[in-house]
Amino acid sequence: MESKFRILLVEDEISLARGLIYNLEAEGYEVELASDGLDAMAKIDRGGFDLIVLDLVLPHVDGYEVLKRIRGLNPRLPVIILTAKLEETDRVRGLELGADDYLTKPFHLKELLLRIKGMLRRFTWYAGPKTSEQFVFGPNRIDFNTLKAYGVDGKELTLTVKEAHLLRVLIDHEGRAMSRQQLLEEVWGYPPDIVTRTVDAFIARLRAYFEPNPKKPVYILSLRGLGYRFVKEPE
Ligand code: CA
Repeated sequence: MESKFRILLVEDEISLARGLIYNLEAEGYEVELASDGLDAMAKIDRGGFDLIVLDLVLPHVDGYEVLKRIRGLNPRLPVIILTAKLEETDRVRGLELGADDYLTKPFHLKELLLRIKGMLRRFTWYAGPKTSEQFVFGPNRIDFNTLKAYGVDGKELTLTVKEAHLLRVLIDHEGRAMSRQQLLEEVWGYPPDIVTRTVDAFIARLRAYFEPNPKKPVYILSLRGLGYRFVKEPE
């Protein structure tokens, strides 16, 4: 028998948590609830989860700290953050700390379920060391094996799995336009009806690492109405 995916839900709003648990279990997932940051830390330390849904505003220890702990233990575990506000800073900080996606409250249950399903489907993209695979463009160097990269400023940085996967897909389709939907499908495993700015947020991060001037990109180009295109050797 196939074992169930185990999800850790970190959420202090009990009525919301109850509704989510009910629906996640109905989808066939096994769910454990942590209702504050400390509880979450303890459960994460114990491990055994396939995906984490993490509210950022929590009692005792906030979601950012929890996220740091998760990434310290496992850079690959899929994490979806829930932000209460529309504030971009929360989202940006969450992605900086290695979240794979975000949803702004209030969100539709279906949106969350589709994302969880997609993420679990793409879980295996980076499962561990493969053969060393270096890619160089302009002043940038990326090792897709270790996820280590040297960007425009020459400093070493570690890409998150989703950052690396997105870049890999763009590179593999060099010179061709990739729509947001295609990228969401390839990298996040999302169906075409998901509408989100997640891709744009990740593109902004990649540009900050690898573009000499992120405001005037030469490698990762925007194509109005179409999506994005990678160019290895700009004219
Ligand atoms: Ca909260």
